[in-house]
Amino acid sequence: MADYQLVVIGAGPGGYVCALRAAQLGLKVACTESWRDPAGAPVLGGTCLNVGCIPSKALLDSSHLYQHISTGAARHGIHCAPPQLDVPTMLKRKDDIVKSLTDGIAALFRKHGVDWIQGHGRLLAPGWIEVSHGDKQSRVSAEQVVIATGSIPAAIPQATVNNQNIVDSTGALEFTEVPAELGIIGAGVIGLELGSVWARLGARVTLLEALPDLLPSVDRELSAVAQKSYRNQGLNLLLGATVSAAEDNQGVTVQYRQNDAVQQTHFNKLIVAVGRHPNTSGLGAAEVGLKLDARGFIQVDTLGRTNLPGVRAIGDVTGGPMLAHKASEEGVRIADSIAGRTITPLNHDHVPWVIYTWPELAWAGSTAEALQSRGIAFRSGAFPFFASGRAKAMGETTGMVKLLSDAQTDRLLGVHIFGPSASELIAEAVLAMEYEASSEDLARTIHAHPSLSEAVHEAALAVNDQALHI
Ligand code: FAD
Ligand code: NAD
Repeated sequence: MADYQLVVIGAGPGGYVCALRAAQLGLKVACTESWRDPAGAPVLGGTCLNVGCIPSKALLDSSHLYQHISTGAARHGIHCAPPQLDVPTMLKRKDDIVKSLTDGIAALFRKHGVDWIQGHGRLLAPGWIEVSHGDKQSRVSAEQVVIATGSIPAAIPQATVNNQNIVDSTGALEFTEVPAELGIIGAGVIGLELGSVWARLGARVTLLEALPDLLPSVDRELSAVAQKSYRNQGLNLLLGATVSAAEDNQGVTVQYRQNDAVQQTHFNKLIVAVGRHPNTSGLGAAEVGLKLDARGFIQVDTLGRTNLPGVRAIGDVTGGPMLAHKASEEGVRIADSIAGRTITPLNHDHVPWVIYTWPELAWAGSTAEALQSRGIAFRSGAFPFFASGRAKAMGETTGMVKLLSDAQTDRLLGVHIFGPSASELIAEAVLAMEYEASSEDLARTIHAHPSLSEAVHEAALAVNDQALHI
């Protein structure tokens, strides 16, 4: 008999949720995790809790508050002395939040009876895992294995991360003072979020983006509105800029090419944020014959099954949207499937994306451009926040809600929001898409007044030219 019915390798939001769900369903479960916190203590939670979603949002919220007090309060008739910035306290607050959440996962493991095997897991064969902890090795056997080893920052040879003045996203969460000039290679999700943090705190931020368009997978109309807002906030977006060299010598000198001209500029700090790679390092993939695709992602079917019997994989290491909630939802479904329940495959189209700038940018489903290119006839309804009573009361009138629905069936096909609390507003539309609701269904739903959600309601009305407040 195997030691466990399920061993999960990796305790990020994919792995720890999978382990908890499987234990909830009565399976005997262990989870191996090798992450250590900056003090060297073993810790759960993976990228998301330790160096990703949570610490970045803690800094986004702190910097938003600082900016609001500095420049927003006076508009409400509240005059404050200029606020004093205390970056070490801001960082400590972030670290305390991370610790309380990662400790919380250890408590959840205890509560549900999940064994945490501290150390690095390596597949020896289907059903056999070797765990290395320091110089000690042990072996565990499992009826089923789920690989949830996540992802790591992508590197580029033109700008080698040295964790001094050239850093990746992890280093960018740890600046102990505000860099006067901050460069960021890559104007993707991380570049825009962490660029916003340091810009709000006073850095002059330049983003060097290789592509000619900002956020090419975002609806073009919303991307244009967002781009204008980011530029108004002082983010210096250089599109079509290819970095050829970055040298760290008391600050970073960066050479790049834009519009056929070679330019040189100097930053105090440089963040490299050019995407993330699947993490299969030291997993024993090649030795056991685990199939990876050309980009290094573990190949899985819609039930998360790899080519090896009894070995499944979830989360960032498998491709698709590299998002915590996608990893967690796969974790739940795969645990259900292992426990013998029937599951439906995850629809990647219904995974919401959010970029936590301010305003926030959130979307799910298809863009207008994607529908056009697929020849799908659709109707579009939009509502701007400047016409929302609640948004006006808040002083947050930038942006809009845009809904796309099928021209024949009226089923919702896409939702695109740039505006205050877009991360919260999008949930309603994702629910509607998941349950095949129509724009008419959303239009018939009563929304509280005054609330930002009325903008979603009005956009749904607008799909049939029935918006009332615009
Ligand atoms: P991970 O969270 O990467 O966890 C994998 C775990 O496996 C790690 O703990 C690792 O130590 C462990 N591991 C790896 N190999 C082994 C091994 N052989 N043995 C034992 N353990 C192993 N996503 C969002 O949805 N919302 C956000 O706001 C958001 N913000 C982000 C901000 C930043 C700065 C970054 C970098 C990422 C952000 N993400 C966000 C992405 C999100 O963090 C990832 O999509 C998510 O963490 C993926 O979960 P996962 O479980 O697949 O992998
Ligand atoms: P990204 O793919 O979002 O953006 C990377 C950007 O870098 C792209 O625009 C790309 O064109 C550009 N780029 C690539 N190589 C370049 C080069 N050599 N020079 C200049 N530009 C270059 O990746 P990211 O911002 O590193 O984030 C990684 C992933 O982490 C995201 O895609 C997302 O899945 C996840 N994440 C999610 C959130 C969130 O949900 N709010 C936040 C942070 C990270």
